[in-house]
Amino acid sequence: MINIENYNRIRKLAGKDITLVAVSKTKPGDDIQALYDLGQRDFGENYVQELVDKEALLPRDIRWHFIGHLQSNKVKYIAAFVHLVHGVDSFKLLKEIDKQSFKNNRVIHCLLQMHIAKEETKFGLDELELEEVLTQYREAGFKHVNVIGLMGMASFTDNMDLVRKEFHYLKRVFDQCKQHHPGIDFRILSMGMSSDYPVAIEEGTNMVRIGSLLFGEREKKPGT
Ligand SMILES: *Cc1c(COP(=O)(O)O)cnc(C)c1O
Repeated sequence: MINIENYNRIRKLAGKDITLVAVSKTKPGDDIQALYDLGQRDFGENYVQELVDKEALLPRDIRWHFIGHLQSNKVKYIAAFVHLVHGVDSFKLLKEIDKQSFKNNRVIHCLLQMHIAKEETKFGLDELELEEVLTQYREAGFKHVNVIGLMGMASFTDNMDLVRKEFHYLKRVFDQCKQHHPGIDFRILSMGMSSDYPVAIEEGTNMVRIGSLLFGEREKKPGT
């Protein structure tokens, strides 16, 4: 069951300048179709097999975002159709995406994931690692993978001051990247989920990833 009231409210708040990615992981195709029928086109999934299965069944013009932690050996399963990969955290993965994208005669857009939360368990790069990956990426001159921004997940907490600090920090890194790497087209900042998207919007996000507010609670916690 989708929550149409929440959908309309979030769409209105996001406006034209913020892309809403509806996170449909673990949810049935019927729910995705229902949101699609209201005009939604961007959907996010975390698991490769689930994404492959859904892509085969649902409308062709859906833009599928892979927002989970992508393993190099699984890139090949989604390379033919994925629209944006949010969670890239190594040069090795970029290289594999370039390879599989080439095989499919495509260019795949990616976001580098920054580690901004207190929890050690979350994936992502620190600032130094980000610079390393960007340097390697520039030197490699890939033709089939295109880094277009950053993604981050704030701490899983009710403490919105902490969340705000983390988003503020990510926005600052994003702005610095734009300045320091004019050759890279930094234009997407993916931050904000059901529990914290209003704060992310205030801190300057232009892409939010929202699941439970649209599709209802999941069995599993986000990120697991
Ligand atoms: C599951 C997930 C979301 C959506 O989480 P909700 O709290 O349901 O909005 C967003 N981003 C990532 C990376 C996720 O894994």
